[in-house]
Amino acid sequence: MNDAATPIPHHALDAEATLVAFDTGRGGLSQDEALRRLDQHGPNRLPEPPKRSPVLRFLRHFHNVLIYVLIAAAIVTAVLGHFIDTAVILVVVIANAVIGFIQEGRAEQAMAAIRDMLAPHTSVLRDGERRTVDSADVVVGDIVLLEAGEKVPADLRLFETKGLLVQEAILTGESLPVEKSTAAAAANAPLGDRTAMAFSGTLVAAGTGRGVVVATGPATEIGRISGMLSSVETLTTPLVQQMDRFSRWLTVLILLIAAILLAFGYFLEHFAFADMFMIVVGLSVAAIPEGLPAVLTITLAVGVQAMARRNAIVRRLPAIETLGAVSVICTDKTGTLTRNEMMVASVVTAGDAFMVEGEGYAPEGAIRRGETVVDAGENQALREIARAAALCNDAVLNGENGNWTIQGDPMEGALLALARKIGGDTPSPRAEWRRVDEISFDARHRYMATLDRNTHGTTLASAKGAPERILAMCATQRRPDGGSEALDEHAWNEAAEAIAAKGQRVLAIATRTMADGHAALGHADLEGKLVLVGLVGLIDPPRPEAIAAVVQCHEAGIRVKMITGDHAGTAAAIGRQIGLQNPDRVLTGTDLDMMDDAALSNAVAETDIFARTSPEHKLRLVTALQSRGLTVAMTGDGVNDAPALKRADAGIAMGLKGSEAAKEAAELVLADDNFASIVAAVREGRTVYDNIKKVISWTLPTNAGEALTIIVALLLGMALPVTAIQILWINLVTSITLGIALAFEPTEENTMRRPPRPRGESLLSAGLTWHIVLVSLLFLAGVFGIYAYAIDQGHSDVLARTMAVNTIVVLEIFHLFFIRNLYGTSLTWAAVRGTKMVWATVLGVTAAQFAFTYVPFMQDAFGTVAVSPLDGILIVGIGIVFFAVIEVEKQLRLALLAGKA
Ligand code: ATP
Repeated sequence: MNDAATPIPHHALDAEATLVAFDTGRGGLSQDEALRRLDQHGPNRLPEPPKRSPVLRFLRHFHNVLIYVLIAAAIVTAVLGHFIDTAVILVVVIANAVIGFIQEGRAEQAMAAIRDMLAPHTSVLRDGERRTVDSADVVVGDIVLLEAGEKVPADLRLFETKGLLVQEAILTGESLPVEKSTAAAAANAPLGDRTAMAFSGTLVAAGTGRGVVVATGPATEIGRISGMLSSVETLTTPLVQQMDRFSRWLTVLILLIAAILLAFGYFLEHFAFADMFMIVVGLSVAAIPEGLPAVLTITLAVGVQAMARRNAIVRRLPAIETLGAVSVICTDKTGTLTRNEMMVASVVTAGDAFMVEGEGYAPEGAIRRGETVVDAGENQALREIARAAALCNDAVLNGENGNWTIQGDPMEGALLALARKIGGDTPSPRAEWRRVDEISFDARHRYMATLDRNTHGTTLASAKGAPERILAMCATQRRPDGGSEALDEHAWNEAAEAIAAKGQRVLAIATRTMADGHAALGHADLEGKLVLVGLVGLIDPPRPEAIAAVVQCHEAGIRVKMITGDHAGTAAAIGRQIGLQNPDRVLTGTDLDMMDDAALSNAVAETDIFARTSPEHKLRLVTALQSRGLTVAMTGDGVNDAPALKRADAGIAMGLKGSEAAKEAAELVLADDNFASIVAAVREGRTVYDNIKKVISWTLPTNAGEALTIIVALLLGMALPVTAIQILWINLVTSITLGIALAFEPTEENTMRRPPRPRGESLLSAGLTWHIVLVSLLFLAGVFGIYAYAIDQGHSDVLARTMAVNTIVVLEIFHLFFIRNLYGTSLTWAAVRGTKMVWATVLGVTAAQFAFTYVPFMQDAFGTVAVSPLDGILIVGIGIVFFAVIEVEKQLRLALLAGKA
């Protein structure tokens, strides 16, 4: 919203003028004012893309070849005067569409809920303080802080930039990031040339910046063209698409066969056309797996929800399938395998080593040299470490009622706690010093430095970072008496190794006094000129649940690899604690740089720890692992991780500390950044794939069995054991209901003890084809058997058919119990007990079947009569025999496979 309707556009205005125009300042709005503006202008959200109307969505369920056939059938039966059949066909068709409509609605709701979980956040200044707010709550006049990887939440007039590069492809189509500055542009400059503006929806590729919000929601540039943003993820995956195509071609094939049979029956066997027509309609309904795509969609939606409950938010649905096939997980260390709750545990200065005690971020704890507690305030080197640690730091430490928390980077929070432990009651260095300039942390150069000036005009540079990086910039080191001496690089390296070997993250701290008035900090000011003051070691304990998850991965044939920017020694120690397979072999980024692709492809197989890597290495590692035929999941959080996340089979972004850029590139976002959630997602991925397989393995044989019954009867010139209308009932009412139960199947017990599924595994495997053949033949035998038996007993045709229909439904139910356990026996108590969903559907279908058989108006509609209890028991008996046969056959197969393994 642009409430200060200035005639001059903001990009052409001076930044100060914009601040004034929006009645705000560099310290931001007050929280109250921001809330008032939010109330007045509404949330910073683009209008939702128009939804398809429910009527249209409902009608779409009639857009299907089978339904057209049925509607034709309804017309033909009406013309022939078979009005009951017409009515039944129409009711069934409508019931089918209603079921589909409700299911689709549920699946879409599930997806919408997931989308809400991915709502972006933004850092703003309110009441002069940095706060993280929902991007939807940003208002005009807010001061927004931009950092690499973030998505610009609204249109901003920038008033401060530091190496700010913004990727504006979404607006301008230009894929290279453009450099931003604060200089005003000409009023008529095209969008891409308005360098002082950052536009909503674009991504910060590097650097930092601050700007004042000039437009939100629909008033932003992207809001004006928001039509192009309305891409809504549809509920489909390659597998489901494949099944969709398969069903479509199968439909064509079946319709062809039906036409041939129609000709055959009418011309050669001289059946009446009306009878023949109903037979082929029955055949089409029997054979076409029309319910399959809908049930598969439900299966996916159930999977998406299950993953969300385990903190894994699926951004792209195909990831569900890929996750089930993952054979390598490449993960970050800090925060994913470890808790990212840091505490400084050791400090090393020239000639001295200290242990730091304490708990969490509380700034209380003794500093010891061996057994003796030292007065840290008296130690010049420690005091200097405390000062640099507090100044070269962006975190904030808060303590309320003894509960200490931090805002910002946990490592910096831990350094603040250390500074207070050393400084005791003396005022924080931040009170005395004011930051003049900074070199912000970047994973590529692995250090951060600040330039601060105190009230006396003294200017100080403070740096912290990876020891080898900081050491390389130091010429001297701080002596215990406060003076300086030549740097003993060897001793420092040894000290760093010793700290790292304990699994602690090592940071080196260095300073330099600058000439008075020095105002800008560059690498050249530090290179070779810093004085090394000391090293600090930070503990960051592994997450216990990550250790358990690594064990699960190994059982599931999934290799876990740690890719970290941390020191090799620290990485190896943590790798050991976490239980990685080969913790003694560590490759560093430098090692990787020296390898060509072939050497790398060999090395990656047996190496599980990669240290001192930069994001670019991740991309090479993914490619190398993929070249070995592995299916790779890769985690990432920074903006530079995006290419590796895109390249990985399953890119996984961190929800808490991850940048928007990483989230956009990823297929999956972890709400809790926890490694254990990845493994839970893999488990769900395998479950969903199994359930898809179960739905297919259950549906296809049922359809094939029914179709075969009709074809055989027709070819042998026999009366049909089930009528077309009855088949309609079986397929469009009972089958779909039963099939859905499989979408809700829980994870099978041995799911995470199987090796990952091969990448190109075909769904219609030899095993499944054989299962289809076997079950179809058994269905055929069961149906003809009971029909022949009934006729033999002198029962009427109508009763014989009623018994045949009931037999099919009973066989379907037993088949369902069988399919539930693809990889184990179905005869355990847990298997028989089933799930609520299974019993609910089985009871529902049984009740429907009783109505079908015994309720007079249903009898009239479907041509059925009551079946005697004895015959009923016989039908269930057939189901039991069928179950016994296929279960024994499965055990035989499993025994054979076990023998091979
Ligand atoms: P992990 O994979 O364990 O999550 P990472 O890859 O995120 O680690 P980086 O954050 O890239 O690791 O950090 C790499 C190294 O850079 C660290 O080991 C540390 O030495 C240094 N470092 C990290 N953060 C900072 C910071 N804020 N200031 C200075 N140096 C830092």
